[in-house]
Amino acid sequence: MSLVVIGTVAFDAIETPFGKTDKIVGGAATYASLSASYFYKNVKIVAVVGDDFPKEDIQSFEDHGISTEGLQIKQGEKSFFWSGKYHTDMNSRDTLVTDLNVLADFDPIIPESYQDCEFLLLGNLVPQVQLTTIQRLKKRPKLVVLDTMNFWMDVAMNDLLVVLKEVDVLTINDAEARQLSGEYSLVKAAEKILNMGPKYLIIKKGEHGALLFHENQVFSAPALPLAEVFDPTGAGDTFAGGFIGYLAKVGTVNFHNMKNAIIYGSALASFCVEKFGTERIKNLSEKEISDRVQEFVKLSSFTIEI
Ligand code: AMP
Repeated sequence: MSLVVIGTVAFDAIETPFGKTDKIVGGAATYASLSASYFYKNVKIVAVVGDDFPKEDIQSFEDHGISTEGLQIKQGEKSFFWSGKYHTDMNSRDTLVTDLNVLADFDPIIPESYQDCEFLLLGNLVPQVQLTTIQRLKKRPKLVVLDTMNFWMDVAMNDLLVVLKEVDVLTINDAEARQLSGEYSLVKAAEKILNMGPKYLIIKKGEHGALLFHENQVFSAPALPLAEVFDPTGAGDTFAGGFIGYLAKVGTVNFHNMKNAIIYGSALASFCVEKFGTERIKNLSEKEISDRVQEFVKLSSFTIEI
C-alpha cells in the first residue's frame, strides 16, 4: 500500500515584506510529499524536472523515504519556474511569472511499483495530467484528494470540471472557491462545489484556518496565531500533504478522521510559513509536531457550563 503524490517539483523566486529569494526549490509535490512523509512511510512522487534540477535535492526526497522512481528528468530542458510577491498582509500574493517549461508537455509515468497506490494526492498541476494519473492507475485508490489553484481555473476550467467528477476531496482557498462556484457566501459555494463531484470540500483561509464541508456537516479548524510569518509559499501543499499523510497512516476515511487530518495538515503548514521555502519542513522532529498539534487543541477547546 502506498501514498502517491503528483505535482510540480520546481524552482521558485519569492518576495515577501521580509525578504527575497533567488531561485529556490519549491513546487506543490515537493512540499506535499515532504509533509506527508512525517506521517506515512511509503510516499511516492510523480513529477517532471529539467536537467537543471540539483541532484542533491532529488536525494533529499530519498532521505525522507520518498520514492523518486516516478520523477522524470528531461535532458536539455528547464524545470517549472514560478515567481510570486506577497502583499503586506501575507494573505494575498501576485504571481509574477509562471514558466511551464517541462510541464508544458508532461506525460506522467506511473511505474509498476506505484500500482499499489491506496491514497492519491493530485497536487496542483495541469488538470488534464491529474486526470491521466487517475486513468493510469489500474485500481481506483481508496481516497483521491485534488488540490488546484486560480491559475488552472483561468486557463483550463473545462478540464478541471472533468477531473473534479473523479475525486473524493477538493482543497482550495476561499478566493478559489468563490471563483469556481460564482458564489460569495462560502456556504453556498460549498453546496455548489459538492455537486460538481467531490464528496468533501476543504476551503483554506490562510491565517484564518480551514473549513471542511461534507453533506450537511461543517467543521472549522483554526490556524495557529503565529508571531512570525516569513513566507506562506507552499503552505497549501504542505497542508494537503499532512492531511492525506495522516489519513494514510490511520487507514480509515471518515469525517471524524478528516477533522484530525485537517489539524495535522494545519500544524505542518504552520511550520512551513516560519521560514523561506522548504527549509523549516525539512527537519522536523516527532516531538515538535506533537507539541504543535497540542497547541491547536488548546487553542480551540472550551467547555460551556449550562
Ligand atoms: P501554495 O503556496 O501552496 O499555493 O504553493 C506554492 C507552490 O506551488 C510553489 O512552490 C510553486 O512552485 C507551485 N506553483 C505555483 N503555480 C503553480 C501552477 N500554476 N501549477 C502548479 N504548481 C504551481
